[in-house]
Amino acid sequence: MTIRIIGGGIIGLSTAYHLSKEGDEIVVYEIDKAYEKASFARSCGGMRSQFSTPTNILMSRYSIDFVKNQTDVTFTPNGYLMLFDHDRQQDHDHSLALQQRLGATTTSMQPEVLAREFPFLSTDDLYRGCITRDGSEGWIDPNALHQWYRSQCRAAGVQFQYSDFRKASFTPPDTIIITAGFWTREVAQHFNIEVPVRGEKHTVFRVQTSKPVIADLPLVADLASGVYLRPEGDGYIVGYDGNNEGEADDLEPYWPSWDTVWEKLYGRFPDIFAEAKMVGAWAGHYDSSTIDHNAIIDCRDGVYFATGFTGRGLMHSPAVGLSVSELVLGRVPSFDLSGYRLDRQAQPEKYVI
Ligand SMILES: Cc1cc2nc3c(=O)[nH]c(=O)nc-3n(C[C@H](O)[C@H](O)[C@H](O)COP(=O)(O)OP(=O)(O)OC[C@H]3O[C@@H](n4cnc5c(N)ncnc54)[C@H](O)[C@@H]3O)c2cc1C
Repeated sequence: MTIRIIGGGIIGLSTAYHLSKEGDEIVVYEIDKAYEKASFARSCGGMRSQFSTPTNILMSRYSIDFVKNQTDVTFTPNGYLMLFDHDRQQDHDHSLALQQRLGATTTSMQPEVLAREFPFLSTDDLYRGCITRDGSEGWIDPNALHQWYRSQCRAAGVQFQYSDFRKASFTPPDTIIITAGFWTREVAQHFNIEVPVRGEKHTVFRVQTSKPVIADLPLVADLASGVYLRPEGDGYIVGYDGNNEGEADDLEPYWPSWDTVWEKLYGRFPDIFAEAKMVGAWAGHYDSSTIDHNAIIDCRDGVYFATGFTGRGLMHSPAVGLSVSELVLGRVPSFDLSGYRLDRQAQPEKYVI
């Protein structure tokens, strides 16, 4: 049996890596040898276990442990500070208890405690802020993880074809796996399968300030304002879930949203971003599941697919590669994938940013 994986991004290579241990012939088809458009290469590298649904939490815990202990990729353990306003009180209370029950070390802080620990934060409108303090959340260089998978795959004999999969001849009983990011929808249509995923363009700004960079700042995900940021080099990288332009083919950053982003940054970090200069930006596609913002991992007529990660594909890639390999091999799944099936009841993930 030959296993043919369409899409050699982060999910495709994790899948190839996990399957390569079984000795089957594996071919990865990747249309874009330079990975210029691939989402993983345009992501912010964030890895957190703070989510609202059990499988997302467990996939994060597995994946972070995998990256830290089984790869040579550097993990920056600054943590993830998630901020909640009063509208999110229920989500916070429910998810905090769930995370702790599933082994995550998330702790919650009242606004006074937050203000003491992070004196540069404006906390007036906040209900709580959550963080882990054991180095289990942070970020990585997305390209380093992709490179690690690639070198492991090559060493295990995985073949790479840098071309459109349509140029290859697929013969039964080949196994076909589609891991083409948001392009999975059009690739799956070739096999007469409808996968409800779309590419939402997100812009990330590079920002410098007149103050020294807070190098040990956690990745701050402000669910109240929609802004997220982390230190990078001599400045910060800043995203905003409101600058998602919906479906768009091009990768031109959405420059007009900078004014709004700055207002929100200044509102939350008045001392740091009073004098801020936007020095660049890039854009990439969130592969968003239109069902409920949770992943889609399933199989139809012998064709497997994994997509729809909505800002989580990089951090979950180890768990997803393992899960797809288990599906293909007919093994007992390590994770409950019922919430990721194509025909599921929508169960929205609340911590989307
Ligand atoms: C701005 C931004 C910030 C993000 N930040 C984070 C973050 O902090 N943490 C996180 O976990 N996730 C983040 N993400 C999400 C993450 O990048 C994606 O969920 C993840 O990259 C999805 O991986 P993938 O392998 O499915 O898709 P991709 O990385 O897009 O790879 C798909 C591959 O398929 C190839 N392909 C497409 N069509 C074909 C074809 N016909 N034939 C062959 N190959 C084909 C493409 O060229 C591409 O290389 C972010 C995304 C964006 C855009």
